[in-house]
Order: sequence, then structure tokens, then C-alpha cells
Amino acid sequence: MSLIASQPVQDVPALQQQGGCTDAPVLRERGQREVFCGLTGIIWLHRKIQDAFFLIVGSRTCAHLMQSAAGVMIFAEPRFATAVIEERDLAGMADVNDELDTVVARLLARRPDIRMLFLVGSCPSEVIKLDLSRAAQRLSKQYLPAVRVLNYSGSGIETTFTEGEDACLASLVPELPAESATAATSLLVVGALADVIEDQFARLFTQLGIDTVRYLPARRASELPPVGPQTRYLLAQPFLAETARRLEDRGATRLAAPFPLGIEGTTGWLKAAADEWNVAAETFEKVIAAPRKRAETALVRHRETLSGKRIFFFPDSQLELPLARFLARELGMELVEVGTPYLHRQHLAEELALLPAGTSLSEGQDVDRQLDRCRAARPDLVVAGLGLANPLEAEGIRTKWSIELVFTPIQGFDQAGDLAELFARPLNRRERLKV
Ligand code: SF4
Repeated sequence: MSLIASQPVQDVPALQQQGGCTDAPVLRERGQREVFCGLTGIIWLHRKIQDAFFLIVGSRTCAHLMQSAAGVMIFAEPRFATAVIEERDLAGMADVNDELDTVVARLLARRPDIRMLFLVGSCPSEVIKLDLSRAAQRLSKQYLPAVRVLNYSGSGIETTFTEGEDACLASLVPELPAESATAATSLLVVGALADVIEDQFARLFTQLGIDTVRYLPARRASELPPVGPQTRYLLAQPFLAETARRLEDRGATRLAAPFPLGIEGTTGWLKAAADEWNVAAETFEKVIAAPRKRAETALVRHRETLSGKRIFFFPDSQLELPLARFLARELGMELVEVGTPYLHRQHLAEELALLPAGTSLSEGQDVDRQLDRCRAARPDLVVAGLGLANPLEAEGIRTKWSIELVFTPIQGFDQAGDLAELFARPLNRRERLKV
């Protein structure tokens, strides 16, 4: 087993429940799909948990995926790497567990700053049935209290793209301390957010008088938030089904809300917490007035570009429904088809209610059939993974890479303009290229 270190990189209508797509039919497809595997989540998670390290137990293919997905290099100590399972490991000639122990020992000796180590499973580790949960337990015993060792799977057999974050956060839930018997009600924001966005939300929660707010994941391994029956949690991302289930097993209660994308989603998301804390309506309106006004101003020029344009979403990140809701209701785009890899009806109930009635929804994928539908519809803009975007561009169809929407800070009022610009840019570019 050898170690490949990866270089790190660097006037909107009020919220109305119209029952838009709550009971709408969903086209379910279970054919060939074109999505990244869950390893990709490491790209944003390694930036978020600053003293964690992600050790992928995989192949050179996994290492190459990570290196190319990570994109631009910066020069600092990497926080992820791939322990490559070599041919002799695959042939059973070497004890892979011994080799893994050696790699981990070398890594931790060289990097005393690591406080949490994730062993991340891949297709190769699953194929040889390497039991990473036992390996994590064994290594935790050896390195605690200095280093906690956890494991989850990012393999393409088990996970798509953003499900890697769900698997990672779900692995953290059993490690969270229990809240004390006298704990007051606390708010837990669940899902990795860029630090700048977390800070903006923290300020708004303070102004609303919600004092105890914690985040999962926390920025440091030592700041694991306590959880229990007094915990109310808000999902910041729509792809955290397993994490949510485990939090509820620990007694936490989810606050139903749309996701904090755009003005309407952010307002509804904050309002869910404000209502739970019985914040007066006038206080709520006063606190959000200034940032909402900034967002409204920022959206005006993008509405000119996007209004009336037709957009088609291929399934990729599970962000598709909240994004479609934002683009349709706040920017006037027409939704041709909104595909999502997985539709969690409970977590997305508020989003479904806000989507325009009659929106074509699809779940899962049969890529050739979906491409046929897309070509027939000739939308103005397609949101798709990298594998589909380039061929569609070659056919003259404008695209937006869905992966950019996960890497870019897009949540909250102050990012609403940036989020709209991500969709306006490919259309503006096309206009500029016209002679
Ligand atoms: S799909 Fe499997 S083999 Fe390919 S990069 Fe992901 S985990 Fe590695």
C-alpha cells in the first residue's frame, strides 16, 4: 500500500404555501447514471473541519479523481490523501490491515496537528471487503485521546457525489456528546457551510435572540456539539437523510423549512428557527430587513438576463429542487425538467410546495432517455455534471456545472446575487460571443 498525498486547493413574494408540486407525479428512472462518487465531498469537507484528515483507502483512479476535482493547487499541508491498494493487496498476498496501520502511523507521526482521521472507503476497498469500521475502532484505541479515527464509505457503488458528506456527518453523530440533563433548547445547523456564511447566520441568530447555536460539522474536532431531546436542528443542505435519521435517534427534532437558497428560502429557513424560539414577527422582520434588501437589489440585474429563460436540471447534487424553486420564483425562469438523484419527500416538502404547479420532476436517471428529452426541449441552460456538460456544449447547449454549486458559497441573503450570477454568466457569455 502506498500513500499519494493530494494537494489542497483553494420585491420577492412572501413565502406562500401553494401546494405547487406537493402531490405532483415524479418520473422515476433506474437506468445508467452519470454522477460523481461520494469521495468528491472531501473537497469541501477537508476545508471545513480544519484539524481533520481524510485518508481514502482506494486506487490510483480515486487519487486522480480527487486531484482533478480539487482543481487549483495552493501550497499548504494537504488534508486528504489516498492510501493506494496495490495489486499484491488485491491478490491477498499482503495483509492490507497491517499496511493500513503502517500508513496511518507514518501519517500521524508526520502530522501531529491531525485530531480526527476519517478512513474513507472506495470501490476497491469494498470489492476486497476491507472492514474499515473495524480498522477505525482498532486505530482509535491506539491513538485516542490525541486522534479520533472514524470511517465512512465514499464509494461509487454506494454513494453519489453529495452523499459522501451525508455519510461523513452520519459517522460523526455517534461521537457527539449527550446534552446535559439541564440543557436549554439549542439549535444545531446541520451541513457544511462556508465559514463566511456560518458567520453571517450566527450574527442573524444572535440578533433574533437565539443564543445557543452550534454547527455540524464544527470547525474543529474538539468542538463536537452535544445532542439530545433539547436539540432542534435545521438542515442547511438537502442531501443529509442518514445524518438526520441518526440525529433523531439521539432525540433531536428537525425544524421543517425550505433550504437557505435565495431570499425566499433563507427567509423561510430563519423563520422556522424564529418560530420555534417564539421570536415576535416585528423583531424577525426588523432583523432580516437590511440583508433582504441587499439581496433584492442584487437580484434585479440578473432577473433581466434570466427571466423567461428555460432551464433543465440533470440529477447530480440533490440541490436541484431548492435551486429550481429559487430560479423560478425569484428570477422568473421556466423549469423544463428538474431531475434529482434522490427525492426525500419529507425533507423537501416545503420546497415541493413552492415549486410552480406542473413542474416536470424526475428522480434517478436513465441518461440516454434523459438526454433525448433534453435535446428535444432545447432549453436555454442545462445544469449537469462535468461528464454531460461538455458534450452538450459541443451541441450548442449552454451548461452550468452542478459541482460549482456545491463548491461555491451560495446560501443566505448576501449570496443570493452570487447564486443568480452563476446561472446568468453562461447566458451572458453567449450574448458576448454573438457577432
Ligand atoms: S467511483 Fe469508485 S473507483 Fe472511481 S473514484 Fe470513486 S471510489 Fe474510486
